[in-house]
Amino acid sequence: MTIVETSRISIVFLSPHLDDAVLSCGGTMNLLKRNNIPTEVITLFAGSPEGELSPLAAWMHHAWKLPYDAPAYRREENRNALVLLNARNTCALFNCSIYRKDARTGQHLYSSKEQIFGGNWHNEETLLSNLATELEKQIATSNCQVVCIPLGAGGHIDHLLTHVAGVQACASQENVQLVYYEDLPYSLDTNALHRAADQFSLSARYRITVSLSEEDLRAKETAIRLYRSQLAETAGVIGITPDKILAYSRDLGRDTFSAAAERFWACDSHTKGFFERIIRS
Ligand SMILES: [Zn+2]
Repeated sequence: MTIVETSRISIVFLSPHLDDAVLSCGGTMNLLKRNNIPTEVITLFAGSPEGELSPLAAWMHHAWKLPYDAPAYRREENRNALVLLNARNTCALFNCSIYRKDARTGQHLYSSKEQIFGGNWHNEETLLSNLATELEKQIATSNCQVVCIPLGAGGHIDHLLTHVAGVQACASQENVQLVYYEDLPYSLDTNALHRAADQFSLSARYRITVSLSEEDLRAKETAIRLYRSQLAETAGVIGITPDKILAYSRDLGRDTFSAAAERFWACDSHTKGFFERIIRS
């Protein structure tokens, strides 16, 4: 699903699931909106389930209070949030981990949260290859200058796959800079952030702290609350607590004497400077 616009996209945010880009970068997206800089969110794992749900998926649907085709509802939540933030909305219909099955046996690949957060992307080489091919196509179509990918903090298998597929897809694109964003809410745990950096042997030591206004923070909160099925007030212990994410943004803001901030990482000073110039233009 693509909302067609004619202007060149400046920054693409790669989102594993139908909320990650906004949870992690929603304030920056609002800042870019205010500066009339075109953005796009490409969500990779937005597909609807097929066949019988696994017990894990059924349990999560129950927590989210969503029916069998939960992703259809989640795509609508995401669409509304991205309209608010004026980002082009592109969804690739790959199945997220709770729906994925072994191609040979038809068995569900992940039967517990522990398996999902301890997953190894090397076990899903075919999917990874398909993700990278799809992304190459989408990024070429966007003709963008920067692609923001998740650091992979928290170790969710879908976030790791998005990270690796993003790196692979950008490697073949000239004139596309790669920037990493801190996956929220997982990055609330600083150990998770550093484990992600170590896991990918990231030399991404150049931190980019994007200062946000009160207006940007309010817009981020409004957008997050549109993902109603994913909030703690709906989904209980597996839900998101917006106040924690906003408090993290306010903490980061102290570093730059601003109301709030979001943080990105780059591998070199050139990429850092390039990204900062777009943000400030
Ligand atoms: Zn996610």
